[in-house]
Amino acid sequence: MALRGTNQEFGRPYNRRIVLEFVRLHSLTTRSEIAARVGLTVQTVSTIVRELEEQNYLVSVREEPKGRGLPPSMLKINPEGGFAIGVNVTPISVEAGLVDLSGEVIGSLSRDIAGASPEDAFEIIGAMAPELIAQRPKGRMLGIGLALPGPFGVESMSFVGPTTMAGWENTAIRERLAEATGLPAFLETDMAAAALGEHLYGLGKRFSEYYFLYLGVGLGGALVREGQVQRGASGNAGEIGHIPVVPDGEACPCGNRGCLERYFSLDALRRSGLGDADWLEAVAPTFRNAIATIENLFDPETIVLGGLAPANLLERIVELTAVLPNSVAARRDRKTPRVRIAEGGEHSVLRGAAALAVSSVLSPRFGQMFTGGRERDVLSGGEVAA
Ligand SMILES: [Zn+2]
Repeated sequence: MALRGTNQEFGRPYNRRIVLEFVRLHSLTTRSEIAARVGLTVQTVSTIVRELEEQNYLVSVREEPKGRGLPPSMLKINPEGGFAIGVNVTPISVEAGLVDLSGEVIGSLSRDIAGASPEDAFEIIGAMAPELIAQRPKGRMLGIGLALPGPFGVESMSFVGPTTMAGWENTAIRERLAEATGLPAFLETDMAAAALGEHLYGLGKRFSEYYFLYLGVGLGGALVREGQVQRGASGNAGEIGHIPVVPDGEACPCGNRGCLERYFSLDALRRSGLGDADWLEAVAPTFRNAIATIENLFDPETIVLGGLAPANLLERIVELTAVLPNSVAARRDRKTPRVRIAEGGEHSVLRGAAALAVSSVLSPRFGQMFTGGRERDVLSGGEVAA
């Protein structure tokens, strides 16, 4: 269901975002369709559309006339109307990409570096940013978003172990990012960023309630509900990788034993020393149980699998879900598979990190995009709680 506009005078910036979001989700569309669906008059919509066209956020296209009369002009987001840089700092690399308003990754850069220190990372990012901006020297730069492995602000789990950025505690990350690039800076966990990117540009257009399962060096996930990434009371709800699945299992840097990501994550794949096929066979039962657990907990429309893993690995993982344990998701009236691959593919984190900056322009719900997280004010830039 589309969000509704408001006829209150103060509602103007809100209406502007409502219209932009509607066009983003339903292009190509017309002024009268927008008006009918968001509850504003055609005149109000036309005024807003004119402004947005002048600002280059929207463009209209007209089909060739067939027969009599001029076909209505159709509206869509102008991909070149703005750009943002998405950065993903992982335990093994620093990646950055220039992303346009439609979510297209125009160019990307990557540097392999194991366990980058903040000094290393911000130096690399500071060099990558101008190189990316040079691809659209006249483009409107909306900002830069940085994605990092979480959780944030938990002494015993943050920045501890091989699936996190060890040594990054006590770093004023957002300030350093703004300093290094001169752009408005935003920060999120990698899996929340990826979930946001999927919401804005990918399968989020088709599902209103889904679980985004993030396969990175570690394993995370987030429930996305009506466009909101559900983050829990302190903003760390996605740490599914630390659910204990094997009693007295492998020791985890979090202090517990048998955590899911010790068995199912890119770090686990690397440590196993096995080829993809043998590893998948070994971890298939654990993975399938994790899927049933997520379904029983959240009853999502579907589970969207994405992250850092290469596309062919994601495809083979989804093949494992041809057989799954019973759960509340095993309904006969299902219209979509229980698990499917994110559309963002290998760029899902970069797109999501860039989306942090783009959302401030494009989404009416930006202020509520991340629910929970009282400790961290994501709206004002997502500073890490001290
Ligand atoms: Zn753990």
